[in-house]
Amino acid sequence: MGARHGAQKRAALTLREALAEGQGRIGASRPGSPFLDASLLLAWALGSTRDRLLASLPEPVPASVLARYRALVERRASGEAVAYITGRKEFLGRDFIVDRRVLVPRPDTEILVETALAGLPAPGAVPIRIHDAYCGSGCVGISLALARPDADLSLSDLDPGARDVCAANCLALLGRVPPILASDALSGVDGPFDLITANPPYVRSDLTLSILGKGSVEPRLALDGGPDGLAQYGALAGQAMLRLAPGGVLAVEIGDEQAADVARLFDAAGFAQVRTTRDLAGHDRVVTGRRP
Ligand code: GLN
Repeated sequence: MGARHGAQKRAALTLREALAEGQGRIGASRPGSPFLDASLLLAWALGSTRDRLLASLPEPVPASVLARYRALVERRASGEAVAYITGRKEFLGRDFIVDRRVLVPRPDTEILVETALAGLPAPGAVPIRIHDAYCGSGCVGISLALARPDADLSLSDLDPGARDVCAANCLALLGRVPPILASDALSGVDGPFDLITANPPYVRSDLTLSILGKGSVEPRLALDGGPDGLAQYGALAGQAMLRLAPGGVLAVEIGDEQAADVARLFDAAGFAQVRTTRDLAGHDRVVTGRRP
């Protein structure tokens, strides 16, 4: 940068140059996907889309946009998720509203939705009943309801802020707000259901603290799964068994080293056909079981 941009009278940066600058700044401290991050932030600062931005790279960046963009880049470089900065995250092809009250939807979680859908019976005379526990933004439950318009959906979360975000997403994507219950695991939920899904907090407490210590601002409640990360699964499996109809399915997301432990908890709760499914990266990601 130095010499080239040192001269004050040079023409404004092009979009391409601004992207390269942001990519370098973000990449220095957050090496995951700095180009993608920079382009999402520049599109946001422009009030445009990433596609339109990438189609107009030789154009100049207006000074006010550049200032706004550089401030966003600094936030990303210090650890804030792009999704919290823009307030949106794509999940299974749809935009979900997100803020610091909910976990940012992960691509890994798409496999939970796909696996759960594969375990459902074909649409029939009676609506299927689906409950999504630990719903957070609602990305899992809402995606299920959109794929199965015949379903009767309810959701639950312990956190009132998460329930508010979920309600906003239900309204935006479903056009209505189904029951969103206050519940720790399934204690505040009745049933019976044909499918229960959950992406509970499953990160070990020590790892959660280290992730949060590095600048992430995700809610601790959504990540911290206790000393071994498994704190939620035993109670969840036991409660789900009491709330599923015979033949109903429980499908949960897991950390990639938790498959054997979670499968054991499913077995102990009485589940049959206990199976593990891998995500696209080849990591164990979902455990399912069926109530006999
Ligand atoms: N997959 C998330 C992560 O690794 C954790 C999600 C969760 O705890 N449910 O950050």
